[in-house]
Amino acid sequence: MIENLSKTYNPKDFEDRLYKFWKEKEYFKAHINYDKEPYTIMMPPPNVTGNLHMGHALNNTIQDILIRWKRMQGYEVLWLPGTDHASISTEAKVVEKIRSEGKTKEELGRDNFLKEAWEWTKKYGGNINNQLEKLGVSCDWSRERFTLDESLSNAVKEVFIRLYEKGLIYRGNRIINWCPDCKTAISDAEVDHEETSGHIWHIRYPIKNEDEFIVIATTRPETMLGDLAVAVNPKDERYVNFIGKTAILPLVNREIPIIADEYVEMDFGTGAVKITPSHDPNDFEVGLRHNLGHLIIMNEDGTINENGGKYNGLDRYVARKLIVEDLEKEGYLVEIKEHVHSVGHCERCKTVVEPLISKQWFVKMEPLAKPALDAYKEGKLRFIPERFGKIYTHWLEGIKDWCISRQLWWGHRLPVYYCKDCGEVIVTREEPERCTKCNSTNMYQDSDTLDTWFSSALWPFSTLGWPEETEDYKYFFPTDVLVTGYDIIFFWVIRMVFSSIEQTGKVPFNDVFLTGLVRDSEGRKMSKSLGNGIDPLDVIEEYGADALRFTLVTGNTPGNDMRFHMERVEANRNFANKLWNATRFVLMNLDEKVVLEDISPNLLEEEDKWILSRINRVIKEVTDNLNKYEIGMAAQRIYDFIWDEYCDWYIEMVKPRLYGDDKESKETAQKVLLHVLENILKLLHPFMPFITEEIWGHLPGREEALIVSPWPKYNENKVNVQAEIKMAYIMEAIKGIRNARQEMNIAPSRKATLIFVTKDEDIKDIIDYGKRYFTNLASGETIIIQEDRDNLGEDNISVVLNKCEIFIPLKDLVDIDKEIERLEKEKEKLEEELKRVRGKLSNRGFIEKAPQEVVDKERSKEKQYQDMMDKVLERLKNLKASK
Ligand SMILES: [Zn+2]
Ligand SMILES: [Zn+2]
Repeated sequence: MIENLSKTYNPKDFEDRLYKFWKEKEYFKAHINYDKEPYTIMMPPPNVTGNLHMGHALNNTIQDILIRWKRMQGYEVLWLPGTDHASISTEAKVVEKIRSEGKTKEELGRDNFLKEAWEWTKKYGGNINNQLEKLGVSCDWSRERFTLDESLSNAVKEVFIRLYEKGLIYRGNRIINWCPDCKTAISDAEVDHEETSGHIWHIRYPIKNEDEFIVIATTRPETMLGDLAVAVNPKDERYVNFIGKTAILPLVNREIPIIADEYVEMDFGTGAVKITPSHDPNDFEVGLRHNLGHLIIMNEDGTINENGGKYNGLDRYVARKLIVEDLEKEGYLVEIKEHVHSVGHCERCKTVVEPLISKQWFVKMEPLAKPALDAYKEGKLRFIPERFGKIYTHWLEGIKDWCISRQLWWGHRLPVYYCKDCGEVIVTREEPERCTKCNSTNMYQDSDTLDTWFSSALWPFSTLGWPEETEDYKYFFPTDVLVTGYDIIFFWVIRMVFSSIEQTGKVPFNDVFLTGLVRDSEGRKMSKSLGNGIDPLDVIEEYGADALRFTLVTGNTPGNDMRFHMERVEANRNFANKLWNATRFVLMNLDEKVVLEDISPNLLEEEDKWILSRINRVIKEVTDNLNKYEIGMAAQRIYDFIWDEYCDWYIEMVKPRLYGDDKESKETAQKVLLHVLENILKLLHPFMPFITEEIWGHLPGREEALIVSPWPKYNENKVNVQAEIKMAYIMEAIKGIRNARQEMNIAPSRKATLIFVTKDEDIKDIIDYGKRYFTNLASGETIIIQEDRDNLGEDNISVVLNKCEIFIPLKDLVDIDKEIERLEKEKEKLEEELKRVRGKLSNRGFIEKAPQEVVDKERSKEKQYQDMMDKVLERLKNLKASK
């Protein structure tokens, strides 16, 4: 006998071992090979200090499925892994650490801080890589990249300089989102807008030299310190007479103009608004239109600055409270209204974001967005599912200039230098020694770093050595598909597309496969605060990586959120277990020397032809579905085939041959079993790589590993429609008989006569052929085929099929005397009950005194017993007649 698998399926026995084996054999490693077509996926880089969560597990499982499948299809696959330096989140963690040591970032200084950050990264970075290995990812670790690697940093610098030289990067005053806690600008996409209940304050601004005033409405009264105008809508008749006059800013006594601007909504508050150009994005635009200038009243930490007069140094919210009190004291406050509005919070630290004018670096988006839009319109970029194309278009059409400078230290520093003497700005690859304008050596580098997304936007090509024309870049770029969560289309996908088109002239990937969120079993987002997160590593520990992977890719469709049920993981582990046991059975029943030459067609039984035809179809269905990125459907097809057709039907059907004396028939069954098993393992491998490789290693005559074995090909000639129809009919009959017996709770060991009634010649043939299955799989004893219902006994159970009816004599299924005896007893019991109930109901005292519902209850009991009695009597009558 062949060396068999261990008795029980225990993924821990082999998952780590196999991963090591694959790695050592360098199966994951990509080679430049112009004889083969490349297939490339860039793994979305997780944060270097992050830990594997279900979202990663889902994305990486999908990528691994595609990669393993394409590798087996003969492509030269590259799946390039790596991590992102994640400036803001890593910096926040390091700041926290040094804070706990009683120091601040500033006290430590830039160089020492960066040293700490690198140490942190080395300590916690790479965790996620080990965790990914547990999942079975077959990525090329030899090409692992980090966004702060020297060559990737070079790419970043190169792109910055090229964009700057083309006039696509500029420095300017803009309103940015400022996080007073992280102390950096953050992008629109990093702001969470939450409905928050607050107030609207109505404040009276006196008109200069008049006895009148104008009432403005604001949700942030402290910003009035920076007011430079009051604005009304030019169409607003209430205010026509105010336009052009001067208002006096309360508490501050600054004179500000009253202007007309269409941006003002007439029905918001009083229809008159204060204009604070340095602290509100809309006011900023109004300020530009009316040439109002700027007045910054807040520090970077959210306190009021020296422009705030007596409020100087106060936190913004303390100042708000004081200002409202002062306004009230001095008679400027008209009223306070409750107000629910959307307030921006820092995604990272949840602090309320402050819109602030600031000198920042920007990428001019319009010229970059257009080619990215065109690429989609021209079909060079495809979204799966398609509906995300709309979101992509919508975002690109409304895109604003991208603020790329961050007041952080951990990241790519801007290649920008300033002359202290003449103020010249120099953007250059090498640090300049002298000012190009005044020759001064008094130079310093911009202290800001670039938005993390600036470097990850280059990921599809910077990882391949760009801007160098490396061999890898020439062969593997552009990539084939990007697999990522739909929540970062804007952050990342769009930026990769326009960066790639601008720098390389190519769309970075053909397809974007978007995954949904993995939610808990109740549909809630997994979160730390809810404590409902499920750690993928815990799941792997308990059920194995294969069961987790299978669960993540089945039962959901691309782009939709999924609910994660542990019961499903368990079910998929049971599926693996079923395959394991089936294989053990097959191996146990193979002869010492298993013949691997072709199966000779004239020795095939109908069941062999059927299963060979079916596996051939399944090969097509799985492949077609994978081609369409219908990964869940592909997985379901192979699952159903293994569970139902291979294990529950085929193996059961061939058992008599395996145990029988017909050597040729036995050998054929063995060969077919093995052939189908091989194909099953191949088809299942991308989804469940570990169990399939482990089983593969135990099959006879295996020379190469499953991971690099060729993907099976659909062969039209192997489809056998006749056999499929025949076997489908036979299986339908068996299922019908089994169901009928099951309903009556009859043990399979109790054999019964099966009478098939049909006039159809073809069906007669099929039934005749099916005799052997009916005896084995449907507890048949004598099998009779007849054209009409003659000679059927009185009492039969029947199963209706297409053009055929099956009758099973009841006397074969139950012992009639015993059944009569049992029913007589049942009858007596029911008679007793009926007597009791009827006695009660004929008692007038009971009827009159008992509450209505008690009486009703007794009546319904009477009816119930009578119904049961009728059935028992009917059965007794029939049984006695059939004796
Ligand atoms: Zn923050
Ligand atoms: Zn100079």
